[in-house]
This record gives sequence, structure tokens and C-alpha cells, in this order.
Amino acid sequence: MKPFYNFQAAVVGGDSRQIAVAVAFIDLFKEVKLYGHPQVDIPDGVVPGLNWDELREASVILLPVSGMNDQGLIRSYRIDQPIDFGGLIPDLTPGTLIVTGVFTPKWLQIANELGLKVLQYAEDDELAILNSIPTAEGAVQLAMEELPVTIHGSRVIVIGLGRVGLTTARIFKSLNAHVIVSARKPGSLARAREMGCKGVPIKDLANCISKADIIINTVPALILDETLLVKVKPESVIIDLASPPGGTDFKAAEKLNLKAILAPGLPGKVAPKTAGKILASAIPKMIQQFFMDGGA
Ligand code: NAP
Repeated sequence: MKPFYNFQAAVVGGDSRQIAVAVAFIDLFKEVKLYGHPQVDIPDGVVPGLNWDELREASVILLPVSGMNDQGLIRSYRIDQPIDFGGLIPDLTPGTLIVTGVFTPKWLQIANELGLKVLQYAEDDELAILNSIPTAEGAVQLAMEELPVTIHGSRVIVIGLGRVGLTTARIFKSLNAHVIVSARKPGSLARAREMGCKGVPIKDLANCISKADIIINTVPALILDETLLVKVKPESVIIDLASPPGGTDFKAAEKLNLKAILAPGLPGKVAPKTAGKILASAIPKMIQQFFMDGGA
């Protein structure tokens, strides 16, 4: 079968989810090269990328969901050394499309100056909603591991009712926990009530936090500060699902001897196969849409 695009794609670093996307790329691109993975993991139809100089031949480069850090490093989970992608960026061909979950502002500016295009997909609704399923299941798993009591009958506070918060509140509710949703918008509090949960404005969290067995934050801003943490009972667990640094004052939690867990990247950890399928189905469509929209 003829590929949809007559150019090369490179998939760099990450875990098995990246390999799932590389396989989905086979029908889309003339050639797919996988960099930063051991030879045994290279699937049929994908070419091992052995020489970093050849990366500039790729017109599309896929980085992991977490992208690269400010130092320009990318994690590859089955090799020891991080990949210095930042060091390779100046050699890329202008016009190359970099596809990644998130790209830091610093590297976005550098990419712009070098004439590289960047497509960030972490905020894509389809992907975020589907990813919220393994994320919420991961929160259940953590809660079960950390607590000596059942979720059934436990008091759970879910902070934030966005894509992750909604799925998380639903899953704990379906396990017969007593779920309080804490959000800032009246509409979110109304939605919480519609779901059979109690809705509490974030500003009133102090009135109910001391009763919770499980506190799950999904808000990417500091919510669980020291003034709230002093009210948390010592035997409860805080699971912070918001991307690092999360929404918890972890230093204060440690000082207060509370169990507070920052839990990023749950889809890839608890359900790598499902998470890989979600990315493999969504990313090729996003790239096609990007090119259809003119690739700006
Ligand atoms: P989202 O749909 O944008 O929802 C974010 C929620 O946070 C909304 O309810 C929003 O409230 C609330 N919020 C934002 N800023 C706030 C503030 N300053 N004060 C009070 N509420 C605030 O995001 P999402 O897709 O649910 O993702 C939530 C977080 O989880 C993100 O950090 C995301 O990166 C992370 N995440 C983590 C994992 C994991 O494995 N741990 C997986 C997926 C996503 P409004 O509706 O009032 O604006």
C-alpha cells in the first residue's frame, strides 16, 4: 500500500506507547524510524534509528507525551541515558514538524527561531478524555494500595471537575465511596450534584477536608496548602494527579507526616497497552488535520 505522505517520520524515546504510535505511522509515512529503543523492541515495518545525524531526514518527529525538559533531555524508558534532543534541535531541517504532548516555552521559542513547527497534543479533548480513564483507574489502584480500608464506604474528595476530575469522581462513586467534588464554578458544583456527589466550593474545602479518607487533587495550581493540610487526618492519603509540581504543598505535607503522593504519567504506568492504543489512534489523525489546516 502506498503511504499517505511521501516522507520520513522519526519516533524518539519514551516507552511502549511510542512504539504503538510508530506502528500506526507505518501506513502514513514512506519510512518510520525509531530512535532510543533497544533493537529487540523494534517492530516489523519500522526501521531502527542508529545514527542521530539521520534525524534531519525526518519531516515529522514524534517525542514522548512529556516532551523534553528545560535542559533538552528526553527520557527513554529502556535505555539508561536520557536523550539530548535539545542538542540535536539546531541540526534539524527547517519546516520539520515536532509532535509532542507538551513543549516548554523556552524550547518553543527556540523552535520558532529555527523555523521548526511544533504540534502539542496534551490539551486535545479526545485524547485527554480517553486518557482520563487509565488515570482514574490508576488513582483507584493507588488508593487501594495505600489504605487499609475499602473504597466502598470511604469518604473521597475530588478537587477539580475537568476531564480527569469528572472521570475520577465517577469511578470512585461507582465503587460506592461517598464522593465530595470540590470545584470553583457553580456549574461544576451543580454537575457534582447531578452525579449524586456532594459539591463543595474550593474556598470551603477547610470545612470538609478533615473527614476525608482519600483526597484527590486534579487542579494544576496550589490548592492543598499548609492551612488546609493541617486539617487533614493523619491516616488519610492525598493523591495528586495534576502534572508536576501538582497542587499540593508536598514539603508541608511531609512536615505534617501526611501521606501525599504526586502521581504523574499514570496511563503509561497502569495501562501502557490501552494508553498506547489511545495515542496510536489519535496522533495520526491530529497530524493529518495539522497538514490539512496548512501546517502553520
Ligand atoms: P482540565 O480539564 O483543564 O481540568 C482542570 C480543572 O482544574 C478544572 O476543573 C479547572 O476548573 C480547575 N482549575 C484550574 N485552575 C484552577 C485554579 N487556579 N483554581 C481552581 N480550579 C482550577 O484538565 P484535566 O485534563 O482534567 O487535567 C488535570 C491535570 O491532570 C492536569 O495537570 C493534567 O496535566 C493532569 N493529568 C495527569 C495525569 C496523570 O497521570 N496523573 C493524566 C492526565 C492528566 P475550571 O473548570 O473552573 O476552570
